[in-house]
Amino acid sequence: MWREYVREVTPYTPGEQPGGADVIKLNTNENPYPPCSGVARALKEFDCEALRRYPDPAVSKLRGAIASYHNLDMGNVFVGVGSDDVIAMCYMTFFNSDKPILFPDITYSFYDVWADEFKVPFTVKALNDDFRINKSDYYVENGGVIIPNPNAPTGIAEPVEFFEDILNHNRDSIVIIDEAYVDFGASSCIELLSKYDNLIVVRTFSKSRSMAGSRIGYALASEEIITALHNVKYSYNSYTMDSVTIKLGVEAIKDEKYFRDNLDKVICTRNWTRDRLNELGFQVFDSSANFLFVKPSGISAKALFEKLKERNIYVRYFNKPRIDNYLRISIGTDSEMQALIEAIAEII
Ligand code: PMP
Repeated sequence: MWREYVREVTPYTPGEQPGGADVIKLNTNENPYPPCSGVARALKEFDCEALRRYPDPAVSKLRGAIASYHNLDMGNVFVGVGSDDVIAMCYMTFFNSDKPILFPDITYSFYDVWADEFKVPFTVKALNDDFRINKSDYYVENGGVIIPNPNAPTGIAEPVEFFEDILNHNRDSIVIIDEAYVDFGASSCIELLSKYDNLIVVRTFSKSRSMAGSRIGYALASEEIITALHNVKYSYNSYTMDSVTIKLGVEAIKDEKYFRDNLDKVICTRNWTRDRLNELGFQVFDSSANFLFVKPSGISAKALFEKLKERNIYVRYFNKPRIDNYLRISIGTDSEMQALIEAIAEII
């Protein structure tokens, strides 16, 4: 009888994580460079004696470090196990209305999975033919809004005024801007936090800080919102961030020069790759992220995806309406991208 009461959900499908040294992995938007050297040092020097104790449930050191990095107070910062965890907590805490939450039809494919998981009604709003968001779609009554900036998998960013306009039409619901990729060239909505107490900006260490393996995400918002998030989190699991990760996270935001240099390198390689793909006749969207969204020329996206995989080059293919003839290609090192371009040229 118990099978009748099992919660049935279709899980989010993350990109493959193939092993092997000769794999060129451009399918999950990881950073091709390591975290700053302070992270390696902190890991080496970590005193395992500390593991005897539970970690600080308030994660004060990391929250404090993030707050001062953004010139905010610790009361404006919530941390979680990757921004996936942070967004899931936001769904649980704020998306409890009977009205549907809104997000684009082409976007991070976890948004509808969480909606199913937490039984939140939702309505998707179609991007226009250029794969841009129509802001007026978000002027209707709703139970909340979540939009990534830049959007994924398109990589297209919109300016702060665009989101301010959406906020002005949504004073009665929570608006989440998912800034997972913002450091690679988009403008942040953090500056709007002081004006809108219903805004949540979500960030991650996974992409621009090369820490996907550590799982650190955070939300910035008004104290009232952060308190509500903590109440739900502490009713679920008070110790979600481990002591090692807390320590490494603090180190990861100390080295601003390394951070900026890393971003510059990725952006430079992205622009080089965009130009080569354009030369090969691909349609390439203007990206403000660490990936490119492209429509291949002379071959279907699925066929190219499979042929690249045969050569141990992994990119992301989404077998979904509207985007089943596009590929999302994460930006790797210069030599990885050169190998990719050579492989594509040979294949097509
Ligand atoms: N938001 C977007 C738009 C993403 O693409 C991702 C990466 N899959 C995430 C959030 C979650 O990233 P993480 O949990 O590693 O912080």
